Amino acid sequence: MIFNMEYETMPREALEAIQLRRLQTTVERVYANVPFFREKFQQAKVSPADIRSLDDLRRLPFCTKMDLRDNYPYGMFAVPMDLVVRIHASSGTTGKPTAVGHTARDIQTWAHLMARSLVAGGANRGDIIHNAFGYGLFTGGLGVHYGAEALGASVIPVSGGNTKRQAIIMKDFGPTIITGTPSYCLHLAEVAEELGVSFKDLKFRYGIFGAEPWSETMRAEIERKLNLIAVDIYGLSEVMGPGVAVECHEAKKGLHIWEDNFIAEIVDPVTLEPVPYGTTGELVFTTLTREAFPLVRYRTRDITALNPEPCICGRTHIRMNRITGRSDDMLIIRGVNIFPSQIESVLLDIEGIAPHYQLVVDRKDSLDVLTVLVEVNEKLFSDEVKGLQAMEKRISKNIKDLFGISAAVKLVEPKQIARSEGKAIRVVDNRKI
Ligand SMILES: [Zn+2]
Repeated sequence: MIFNMEYETMPREALEAIQLRRLQTTVERVYANVPFFREKFQQAKVSPADIRSLDDLRRLPFCTKMDLRDNYPYGMFAVPMDLVVRIHASSGTTGKPTAVGHTARDIQTWAHLMARSLVAGGANRGDIIHNAFGYGLFTGGLGVHYGAEALGASVIPVSGGNTKRQAIIMKDFGPTIITGTPSYCLHLAEVAEELGVSFKDLKFRYGIFGAEPWSETMRAEIERKLNLIAVDIYGLSEVMGPGVAVECHEAKKGLHIWEDNFIAEIVDPVTLEPVPYGTTGELVFTTLTREAFPLVRYRTRDITALNPEPCICGRTHIRMNRITGRSDDMLIIRGVNIFPSQIESVLLDIEGIAPHYQLVVDRKDSLDVLTVLVEVNEKLFSDEVKGLQAMEKRISKNIKDLFGISAAVKLVEPKQIARSEGKAIRVVDNRKI
């Protein structure tokens, strides 16, 4: 099923005509109402009247998380506060968070796009949605919640945490769709199993997972352990929240970006020049319908590529590949660029390894040393020491083959690597540079 047939299957030309009209409106709005954008545009010697085609977008300057922080809390708002009905904040891992405002219409648009996303991910009216995304300043919980209501599904606002109670609710309420971060939902499956609740006996058909990068191998693991079809959803608080892009369950191959609401570009993270379709680079968004918090050429730091190929589901909106990392989380080890997800794909090709790992980087005698901690399953860990050493060697060799760098691999017992109720901690960088 498709939630909004007209817009989701719109021919390219019609879609681009809408994009241009909405881009012009957005640029006019930020120029008139947000001093930050007006000054940046003036410095770049470009005015709203210069935006005559979609290609003219490239003439506009970028903005970054740093700009949002500099204008914290309300400096980037494009409407007076009496039109703002909700404020979210992005998780600030370093320094100040970012405050993001929404008008009543922004909330409505978001709910609509989230409803589209839920349907693309396999949900429908009549489904019961177990929403394990956190509720609060983080946009995950409320974003999915309002979308589920707009769709007409029944939503259980269970939020993150209190995992034992979640297991009981899953058993008693019979939810058919689960939403949450992939690492938390795997954790939930482990806890449920310990309580004697098996996903094999539950009614889940689809799981819609996001808010952290995950891999194809992790998808296979989740589908097996949770006994459902797993799709990837993408969003970020600065741009809206969840529902900016989603995989369709028909293809499960890349996430459709709702292009009537956002323009996506991929740029080289160093030169900032746009790159061709299929080339990996940093994802940049321009919002087209946001009223309270419009953004022009916002650098997400997320690394992906765009795929314009037609999709079997019938949706015409461009697809982005899974996020493979962040341009600022990218580890540079002895001059080699490494994303945690690349290490993950090496690990999960090997049988007996749990999808929990951590990369630890140290600097010894001015040399970077990478240690990869990997959990193995109970059975494997009780094997002879010889067997474990052989596996450590094998993983180390695979990493060396792929990246050309040596890594010490250390297999650890199940549940030895710290996991959070929200996001997995994949990298511990101990280098003092
Ligand atoms: Zn599709």
